[in-house]
Amino acid sequence: RAWNFNPGPAALPLEVLERARETLVDYDGKGMSLLEMSHRSEEVERLVGQTEETLLRLIGLNSADYRVLLMAGGASAQFALVPLHFLGPGKVGRYVLSGSFSEKAYREAQTVGEAAVAATGKASGWSRLPDVSGIDLEPDTAYLHMTTNNTIEGSQFRQLPDTGGVPLIGDMTSDLLGRSLDWSRFSLFYAAAQKNLGPAGVTALVIRNDLLQSGNERIPAIFRYKTFAEHGSLYNTPPVHAIYVMKLMLDWTEAQGGVAEMERRGEEKAAILYRAIDDSDGFYRGIVEPPFRSTMNVTWRLADEALERKFADEAERGGLAGLAGHRSVGGLRASIYNAVPVEACRELAAWMNDFRRKFG
Ligand code: PLP
Repeated sequence: RAWNFNPGPAALPLEVLERARETLVDYDGKGMSLLEMSHRSEEVERLVGQTEETLLRLIGLNSADYRVLLMAGGASAQFALVPLHFLGPGKVGRYVLSGSFSEKAYREAQTVGEAAVAATGKASGWSRLPDVSGIDLEPDTAYLHMTTNNTIEGSQFRQLPDTGGVPLIGDMTSDLLGRSLDWSRFSLFYAAAQKNLGPAGVTALVIRNDLLQSGNERIPAIFRYKTFAEHGSLYNTPPVHAIYVMKLMLDWTEAQGGVAEMERRGEEKAAILYRAIDDSDGFYRGIVEPPFRSTMNVTWRLADEALERKFADEAERGGLAGLAGHRSVGGLRASIYNAVPVEACRELAAWMNDFRRKFG
């Protein structure tokens, strides 16, 4: 298998894929695949319930305070659903801008109601994160939205804002389960599964019960968080197999030692790659300033674009896949989510050093 540095859909552990293959034709001795099974069956109900419980257990939140919902439409659907639930006359959704996905979330909110920028790192070309420590929120603030890890730019917040009681909402698509965070500071957070949680097609949303109760009721039932909460995420036909692979991925995470171990490995992996960048005598240039660098998406540049393309193409041929930067920003990016082993990063660093010796 290739070392897979794809940004998402991202690498899955071989054990998870093999287990999914084993059960594909005959699920749990039922004589049929999960793909063929009713979502109203006991098996599927149990699977969905256990998946939600396992996620909550991994992040150590209490089921008396928080609900997990499994939804479709990716994280992009949440960009719209959050303002649909919590904006209304006299209420403003405030956004921390830290990269392209946070801007997308902000723009989507503007189509629904009133949205404003609370802090932005745009002037730095996203090479720095805005300071959110002293954020001052006007009394009409419905919520503050932030993106905890910026997948495209390669930056990650280490600090959370004190919102003074205003609900904090997080897009954690690219770092949920990759590091510990004081999740209880958030009233709502979501992550499309295709990074650390499993395959594309399902999005995990964690919401505090009080916020769940306060959402706007005048939106279609299929988009309402309450609908999913009342039906145990089984209001309509869910992506059952994606949820199953997510459950396998959560079990794998737990067996590896949980979030603390993922964080330890993440720091080790990121340090290996940032060292290869920083010790390259300027041949490689990190895009994000050191205090803001991500442990999930490592981004860097070479002196010219042709060399960057050569790097990504040759690396791919050498078994190191998915290293081209996002098409909107160029450069290079190694996404080192939970399923990417330390060994893959050592191989990549060695390859970077070889490439530098050849072309530096
Ligand atoms: N938010 C972040 C931080 C992401 O990394 C992504 C996808 O990479 C998205 C949102 C969009 O997710 P989706 O494609 O599932 O809508």
